[in-house]
Amino acid sequence: MANYETHLIDPPDTKRSVILAPPKLTPHRGTGSDTFSCGQCGCILVTNARREEFSAFVLKCPQCDAFSHV
Ligand SMILES: [Zn+2]
Repeated sequence: MANYETHLIDPPDTKRSVILAPPKLTPHRGTGSDTFSCGQCGCILVTNARREEFSAFVLKCPQCDAFSHV
């Protein structure tokens, strides 16, 4: 179990990237045991995740609209 901050990136090419934009206060849940929080504002983006599981995704923070990856 570990907590990670996501790495901020520039807004992605949305034709090629998959963006997860979780509803406010309802983070995505995966099948692992790690938590990922926004690298900018710190809100929780993904819980119970494995890094591999979300490595292909670009995450969009519902709170500050920052784009990041795990
Ligand atoms: Zn944020």
